[in-house]
Amino acid sequence: MIADQTPSSRPHPARHLPWLALLALVCVGLWGLARWAYHDGVERLAEQARTDLDLYVVHLQGLLAKYEPLPELLATNPRLTEFLRAPGGRESIVALNRYLETVNRISDATDTYLMDAEGLTIAASNWNAERPFVGRDFSFRPYFHDAMEGELGRYFALGTTSKRRGYYFAYPVREGREILGAVVVKIDVTEAERRWAKSGHIFLVTDPDGVIFISTEPAQRFRTLHPLAPEVRRRIRASNRYLDAALEPLELTVRDTTADGALVRLGPPAPWPEPSPYLLQSRAMQSAGWQVHVLSNTGAVMRDSLKLTALAAALLAVTALGVALLLQRQRSRRAHAALTERARATLERINLELEARVANRTEELTRTNRRLRAEIDERLRAEQALRETQQALIQSAKLATLGQMSASINHELNQPLAAIRTYADNGRLLLAKERHQEVAANLGQILALTERMAKIGSQFKLFARKTSGELTRLPLAAVIESATRIIAPMLARCHGELIARVPDHLQVRANDVLLQQVIVNLLGNACQAIAEAEQRRIEIDARQEGDTVVTWVRDTGPGIPESDLAVIFEPFFTTKAAGDGLGLGLAISSRITTEMGGALVAKPARAGACFELRLSAAETPE
Ligand code: ADP
Repeated sequence: MIADQTPSSRPHPARHLPWLALLALVCVGLWGLARWAYHDGVERLAEQARTDLDLYVVHLQGLLAKYEPLPELLATNPRLTEFLRAPGGRESIVALNRYLETVNRISDATDTYLMDAEGLTIAASNWNAERPFVGRDFSFRPYFHDAMEGELGRYFALGTTSKRRGYYFAYPVREGREILGAVVVKIDVTEAERRWAKSGHIFLVTDPDGVIFISTEPAQRFRTLHPLAPEVRRRIRASNRYLDAALEPLELTVRDTTADGALVRLGPPAPWPEPSPYLLQSRAMQSAGWQVHVLSNTGAVMRDSLKLTALAAALLAVTALGVALLLQRQRSRRAHAALTERARATLERINLELEARVANRTEELTRTNRRLRAEIDERLRAEQALRETQQALIQSAKLATLGQMSASINHELNQPLAAIRTYADNGRLLLAKERHQEVAANLGQILALTERMAKIGSQFKLFARKTSGELTRLPLAAVIESATRIIAPMLARCHGELIARVPDHLQVRANDVLLQQVIVNLLGNACQAIAEAEQRRIEIDARQEGDTVVTWVRDTGPGIPESDLAVIFEPFFTTKAAGDGLGLGLAISSRITTEMGGALVAKPARAGACFELRLSAAETPE
């Protein structure tokens, strides 16, 4: 089939527009879904992180609340007041150190120590450690000043001696209204990092200046949320709060702010695709003056939203594919139905055309048939007429032959007639003389002569009779014999000699009357030919060649010129004088032979004429 290449069948670009619009709509929808999924995920992440943040704040508050009353409780101990009044000797110092050490161990604090009114540490739980606080001046710490003001001092700082971060609670040791010194409890905050490091979020705690002093992410410790102003930096440095920490700002860029918090990027700007942002949420811890923050990575949310979008896209694609397949099937079913309908219509049309053509052709054939039948009838009539004409001709030819032979017949009949007359005359005379015996002999002669005449008559009667033309098995020698008898008078007149060498067993399939006529005709011609010749001889030979019996009739006459060999069989060809020949003998003989399934030809011969007669051999009876 040749593909339809007509311009109308080529898809028009405008036909794609609805599909493109649908595709664009699907893309927008998917984008919307991705956004919605992301925001929803962020919302849920924020909720989770908020809960975790609350828990973390509660944990921190609990941690601080646990140690907050401890200095106040210690300050009520009279041993501390007494010691501040009169430190005493070495033993009382050791005893106090031991006491503080015991309290520190039991309360699980980092350090517990006593400061005099000048800020000098006079007893400490770590008196026995490598770098004890005893003898060190911490008067620069704000918690000391708060305590000396009569308030609970609280402070977060990096220990100058231990270099460890700690939260300090300080309480005044009073005697009456007089403040003699301060008792200080330092607690460790690293536990608040360790336990929460595996929560999946980053927790960090900043001081009022924005310095991160607690973070579950070690790299973020002692960094700042915002760049610090120089005077703030100077103040912090002067307070020695974080010793010599660089306090560099954290690389944190706010990307977006939502109701749940800010979406921030951590670290330097990265090439596309950017690492997923963090959700930053904060809580204030009023009592400690801290800001507690939680940073939640939105990577999982982003991945989930992308997964959901991809799933939706895949579902859409599968649905679209299904719909497309359905449409395609529907279209191909419609096309198939249309094709079937068209094929049916075409078949019907072809059928009708065929029927009309067959009807036409049948009519034509009927006409032709009728014409042919008429022609056949005509032909049959013509054949019948021809056959009748032929019969008439054969009969005429026979009569012509008889005419030709009439002189000889006359002679043949006149002779016995004259003899009969003589015998009768003699008989009458002999009867008068009563010579009865001789009369009887004469009558006998007369009888013999009439018998001979009757015989001649019957031969000619036989020759002249008409025939049905039926073929039978014939002994060739017998037919030649009877023909010879017919021709005998003619042969006698020309003083010719006939030698027939025909084997008795030869049987031919022929009609006896017709075959006899052919041979009589050939012998008649031969007689005429030898009449004037020096040698007057006719020879007949016959032989079987396969299923054919061949007979040759030769004479010693003048022969046939080679130029005449082809024309002598044509009707009315004759070289004889008018009255002697009609020129029909050979023509009729040839036709008769052909009809009997044989052939008659004139063969070239060195002397005289030679005719060859070929006939089908008759099957010999079993
Ligand atoms: P017709 O004998 O009446 O002429 P035929 O058809 O029998 O007609 O013979 C045609 C011619 O063939 C003769 O005129 C003669 O010239 C030639 N012909 C036939 N038989 C012989 C023969 N035996 N010898 C010589 N010529 C012959």
